[in-house]
Amino acid sequence: MNKNMRIRYKITLAVGIAVTVVLVAMALFYTHFQEQTVLSQNERTMEKLTESVAQGLQAVMLAGSADIAESYADRLKKVTDIIDFRILRTNGDEAFRDNKTIHDVNRRRGEETFTPRDHEQQIPVLPADDPNLLATVSENRTLAVYEPGLDGHRTLTFLAPIKYIEACSKCHGTANKVRGVIKLTTSLAAVERDIYEVRQYAIGGLALALMATMLLTGYMLGRTVVEPLEKVTHAMTRVSDGDLDHQVPIQSRDEIGTMANSFNRMTSELRTTYDGLRREQDKLTTIIHGAGEGIIVTDSTGEIVLVNPAAERLLEKPISQIVKEGFYALLDDEEQMRLWLSDPEQGGAITTAYKERVLQVFASTIFGSDHNIVGSAALLRDITEEKRLEDELRRLSTTDGLTGLFNRRHLDATLDTEYNRAQRTGTSLAVLMFDIDHFKKFNDTYGHDQGDRVLQSVAKNFHDALRKYDLACRYGGEEFVGILPNTTLEGAFCVAERLRVEIEAAEVDGLKVTISVGVAAFPELPVSTPEGLIEAADAALYRSKEGGRNRSTRALPPEPSTPAATGADTTPV
Ligand code: GH3
Ligand code: MG
Ligand code: MG
Repeated sequence: MNKNMRIRYKITLAVGIAVTVVLVAMALFYTHFQEQTVLSQNERTMEKLTESVAQGLQAVMLAGSADIAESYADRLKKVTDIIDFRILRTNGDEAFRDNKTIHDVNRRRGEETFTPRDHEQQIPVLPADDPNLLATVSENRTLAVYEPGLDGHRTLTFLAPIKYIEACSKCHGTANKVRGVIKLTTSLAAVERDIYEVRQYAIGGLALALMATMLLTGYMLGRTVVEPLEKVTHAMTRVSDGDLDHQVPIQSRDEIGTMANSFNRMTSELRTTYDGLRREQDKLTTIIHGAGEGIIVTDSTGEIVLVNPAAERLLEKPISQIVKEGFYALLDDEEQMRLWLSDPEQGGAITTAYKERVLQVFASTIFGSDHNIVGSAALLRDITEEKRLEDELRRLSTTDGLTGLFNRRHLDATLDTEYNRAQRTGTSLAVLMFDIDHFKKFNDTYGHDQGDRVLQSVAKNFHDALRKYDLACRYGGEEFVGILPNTTLEGAFCVAERLRVEIEAAEVDGLKVTISVGVAAFPELPVSTPEGLIEAADAALYRSKEGGRNRSTRALPPEPSTPAATGADTTPV
């Protein structure tokens, strides 16, 4: 609104200045022209008057009545606006005041035609070398001279030559072409009053014209520019406040009408785009709110602007707390979060334990098309169950279902690792293998289920007999293998014996079994493969069976003439 008011004032002011300049120029020209016209009119009138006075005087003089001319001159002085009237000789002295001319004329005529004055006086009116006087006399023409007057008004002085004619020669001879000069001074007070009045009228007219122009311009501007602009501005304000349904009324076919039309088209385009965006946003909001994954988004200043219900549930914090604590404190570990976000290679998921859950976190910085940061986002997935199932699967794939000990596949992998480590570090690695004695018969006698329960009991004894970094596994059927890192043959043999004795003493449902054990150790037994160690233990076990069962046997280094695999030291019961 204020802006439009300013536009109205600005345009009105500009028009006002332009109109004022034109009108003032016109008024100046007009008054100057009027003034010049009045002055020249006055000058012409006065010139005619002066010339007719000169002719009148000449006629009077020719009639020989110099005193009449003198009194005529005196009377003329009393006429209003005539300040001075004098008849001068060509030397600037006033005529008819001394007897010089009377004496000259009487002498020329040779008679006393004219009577000298009783009181003569010499009155120099103009100096003899006055340029105006000299010009009048030499050029024999009337001269008008403007001068400042004593009363503040200018004066106009005419110097008119009294021309020489034939009849003058009788009295005055033929020496001069100009007999004298009439000096008539008038006041320009009346003329200047007229000019002043003309100026007053001009100024009044000017003010009226200016006022009318300004009012008309203001009114026209208001109707044709300001009001339509106000409507467009008002519409723009409403649109910028979010009212995209508002349309500007199109009242004219000029530029403002075109602007309003373009604005309306732009607004309806915006409306269509906005509606589309709103629909997409609604969809997105529904998806985000219904998502099982937690979603947290910040703006470019780091302020959290979106937290979906899943995020609240997974983080076990209300939205207000999440927003307050900030993006980096989402998982209560600001350092870690900063590290993830600062790593451009990160991109993928980070799995982290959070309270009772295992969360998969995708944290990343979001860049705009201009490569500026527009915010950060974190996607949280609860993978607790996934992780549990994965662990279970891993456990199942490495353990034996009946006994809970590791299975053979895991044994093979571990044995390779431990053998390599022993080779590398120069430590010893022992393997213990045992088999339940006459188990076929046991099964046949007590049933397979009872046999299973015995297997479970034996497995537990086996597991408990080993250290935590030893590995107990079911090798197959009723055969078991233990891997004992950093253990010598003798150490392993001791373990075997303790286990054998424990199992022999144990009862399962009032029933007992015994085992036969074989132990081997590297590097005491210089086998070149892990399987060689198993084979050696198996050979020792075979020896235990052969030796009468319920016993432990050490695999012995091969005699130079004896194969290593068959070497065994059996300890009888
Ligand atoms: P020995 O070893 O003393 O020479 O005699 P044995 O009777 O134990 O002979 P062998 O090792 O050949 O027999 C293995 C028996 O173990 C065969 C089978 O009935 C039994 N067995 C193997 N696996 C299982 C199992 O998972 N459960 C049960 N209950 N018995 C099994
Ligand atoms: Mg067997
Ligand atoms: Mg057996």
